[in-house]
Amino acid sequence: MHSATTGNYRTKIHNPIPTRSLENSDPVSHHRPQFLHLPLLKRCTHLIHLKQIHAQIIKTTGSSHQTDNLLAKLVFSLLGSSQMDYARRVFEEMSEPSTFVFNTMARANALHGSRKHAIELYIQMRSRGLEPDNFTFPILLKACENVNQGKGVHSLILKGEGFASDIYSQTALVHFYSSHGDLECARLVFDKMAERNVVSWTAMITCYMKQKKYNEGLALFHQMQIAGVEINELTLVNVLSACAHLGAFEMGKWVHGYIDQNQIFLNSTLATALIDMYVKCGYINEASQVFEKLPERSVCSWNSIIGGFAMHGDGDEALERFKDMVASGTRPDHITFIGVLSACNHSRLVDKGREYFNSMKRVYELEPNIKHYGCLVDLLGKSGQLDEAYKVIKEMPMEPNGVLWGALLNACRANANVELAEIAMEQLVELEPFNDGNYVLMSNIYAAQLQWNNVAKVRRFMKERLILKTPGGSSIEIGNTVHQFMAGDCRHPNSKEIYSMLDDVSERLKTVGFVPRTSQALLDANEEEKRRALCHHSEKLAIAFGLIRTVPGTPIRVLKNLRACSDCHLATKLISKIYGREIIVRDRNRFHHFKDGACSCNDCW
Ligand code: ZN
Ligand code: ZN
Repeated sequence: MHSATTGNYRTKIHNPIPTRSLENSDPVSHHRPQFLHLPLLKRCTHLIHLKQIHAQIIKTTGSSHQTDNLLAKLVFSLLGSSQMDYARRVFEEMSEPSTFVFNTMARANALHGSRKHAIELYIQMRSRGLEPDNFTFPILLKACENVNQGKGVHSLILKGEGFASDIYSQTALVHFYSSHGDLECARLVFDKMAERNVVSWTAMITCYMKQKKYNEGLALFHQMQIAGVEINELTLVNVLSACAHLGAFEMGKWVHGYIDQNQIFLNSTLATALIDMYVKCGYINEASQVFEKLPERSVCSWNSIIGGFAMHGDGDEALERFKDMVASGTRPDHITFIGVLSACNHSRLVDKGREYFNSMKRVYELEPNIKHYGCLVDLLGKSGQLDEAYKVIKEMPMEPNGVLWGALLNACRANANVELAEIAMEQLVELEPFNDGNYVLMSNIYAAQLQWNNVAKVRRFMKERLILKTPGGSSIEIGNTVHQFMAGDCRHPNSKEIYSMLDDVSERLKTVGFVPRTSQALLDANEEEKRRALCHHSEKLAIAFGLIRTVPGTPIRVLKNLRACSDCHLATKLISKIYGREIIVRDRNRFHHFKDGACSCNDCW
């Protein structure tokens, strides 16, 4: 049933994916050898038994080789029972420890002991003339504390015979560079690999996600499918997270279909990633459906659905889910309350918000952290209770950060309070000197009061300190393609069409009495130029493209990197009415559902 809609994402689903733990991303655990043939040792976990066996081994006369073999197995069992010191003593008793024993000792040290000692073990091993095997380098990489050490191991791998083409050593390198944020080196190794498996592909995709290069990550996922490599849960979690960030709904839906088709168990991580993808792509109903069908609900999945409804401005629904959660016996955590408080915030339920904030400690024994205070300040500020918001900031038990002052500044904009805005700005210049958004807000606050001298001052300050404005960007998914636009962008192949659509939009907006809010344009320009600049904000380009390319009457979904400006917000409300379209915009903080000339945020965001 899904193949009809999968489009470009069709893949070879020839390997039904077995359910397995995410821990298998560890390149070493994939090929753990079957060395424990001694049945007695295998079953022993009690130290006392292991000690008895140890005595037995010493008493038994055999060749030193045989004794070493038995001791090696004992070392392995001891390490399995976390008897590191005892294992080391046995290890030191051995006359000729093998590469296997060195690897075992080094691995235990790299993971639970001293990383430095793990590396020393390697040096000891080599000085005894022992050759490394394909377990050695992945272990050694685990012991490396920085990229330089890793590069040292990398060169050992290149020098060692056969390791340059060994899939485990190479995958471990990708993994290593990825976890140290060195994308270029990871890709270099990955590209040169003679053979790759699901672990190597996933390690590389994960690396892109960590660097927030979602498009590249998805492109690699496509290549992985073309190569016909089986996909595991970790791959899917990563792909879903990229879809969530990019708003790539079609792709996300395809992953959902893949999960269904292959009957992959929705464990907590995967379920949360799936719900999150639907939420962030603007499909809260689909997210809710996934949640309803979950066989078991973890705190994480409750949190993602509560936070999801909050983000979509449906505070009542979010709070209902919270009640269900408590009733189900699941204990809320700190993240739950971020969702609950932002639900109150987005729906402006001030009294409830205060109540929930106080209940954290009183009922759930959770100490509110700075994020919870941030939600409270935001809630109070947006509902016009600026004095109380300021009081919370002054009296809270920890040092307020930029987020809190930023929330207050934003509230000052909505409530046209220049005096308090200046107090907040003073702190923000110290705390977040390069956050352009704050300066833009401050300048908008001045502009709204027609204090043009001060607007100019803010601009000069930004120029002097070389504070650059983050360029506004928006995207829209049409079919399987995500189209991205910057403000004033002319690079899109359909640019001409888009701008003539925008002219049409402007004309029709004018007829309903829309006047562009030129105070929103922080530009040294005349009114006409300001008007043009506003008209070409990235979300307007994306919406215009949506109007051209989607069927009349269908919703338009747009993603934006910044906070929506009030000009765009007002224009979008009117467009939703004039063109009879529901328009769903995700900005930096939340979703706006525009319909019939109104927005779900009640003009407060
Ligand atoms: Zn705008
Ligand atoms: Zn809105």
